[in-house]
Amino acid sequence: MTRPILHSYSHGIVGVDCRFVRPGMACAHVIVQEGRAAVVDVGTAYSAEDVARALHQLQIPLEQVDYLILTHVHLDHASGAGRFLELAPLAQLVVHPSGARHMINPGRLVEATEAIYGPAYVKRHYGAILPVEASRVREAPEGFVLDFKGRPLRFLETPGHARHHVCVVDEASRSIFTGDTFGVSFRELDTVEGPFVFPTTSPTQFDLEAAHASIDRLMGFNPERFYLMHYSQIEARPQLAAQLHEFLDHFAVMARRLAGSKEDQEALLYEALMRFLLDRVHQHGVRLDDDGIRALLDSDVRLNAQGLLIWALSSASASA
Ligand SMILES: [Zn+2]
Repeated sequence: MTRPILHSYSHGIVGVDCRFVRPGMACAHVIVQEGRAAVVDVGTAYSAEDVARALHQLQIPLEQVDYLILTHVHLDHASGAGRFLELAPLAQLVVHPSGARHMINPGRLVEATEAIYGPAYVKRHYGAILPVEASRVREAPEGFVLDFKGRPLRFLETPGHARHHVCVVDEASRSIFTGDTFGVSFRELDTVEGPFVFPTTSPTQFDLEAAHASIDRLMGFNPERFYLMHYSQIEARPQLAAQLHEFLDHFAVMARRLAGSKEDQEALLYEALMRFLLDRVHQHGVRLDDDGIRALLDSDVRLNAQGLLIWALSSASASA
């Protein structure tokens, strides 16, 4: 049995690599408080087992897991929820009201994901997507505060990447668990300049204005750190927020321009986004060659192109 890959931080926060697609791609987080655990985003049915093994390594019995919190119900964050709740018998699932029904009855979510990636991919990467019993679900709307053993966890609605996305403010560590709201930041792209961050605009609910507003909202809390699903801890520097804003606007311009073309819009937008990011990654001082960078960014750029086109076409028809 492979040992889980752990990242230990201050304030009882531990990252657990989800080994989703590759190590360094997705990270579940565990918050430990007075011998109890809360998990933020569990990943897939496969990584649910890794999180359970990580808790064992941290000497926290699975009966002492109080919560599994989901930032949103995209499958790379949430598909292992049902499996994890089997393993952690007393844990409650904490999720936005609009996400709850998809976790109780995951059929539609699976269908929608299979439509994007194909059924073979879904099975290989996400495993068996089990439903969650309704009695174990606790809904967390905007402003909800979870009292986790005297450690308040505050829920913010942060639409943009997905309509039902929430972020979790942890005042004890002056940090925010951002899911996908503060974009993606792979550690392979760190340089002396710091982390490199870019927005994730996955299908089908990307919303440009909401994405901008949610980034500002997070920065408004003046946090010290963010914990991203892709990938884990970064310092909450204002220049990273500025880069996300700038990239969002660039992405939107590229998508709007190509959404009207008669050629293969998705392939053209993919290449335009990839060239833009390659340029900026090189400017950031990353030493990898183009093939290496393309390999790291491929799946996100593909999803970004798909989500941006859906957004560009729907916002064009809405304003027509
Ligand atoms: Zn997502």
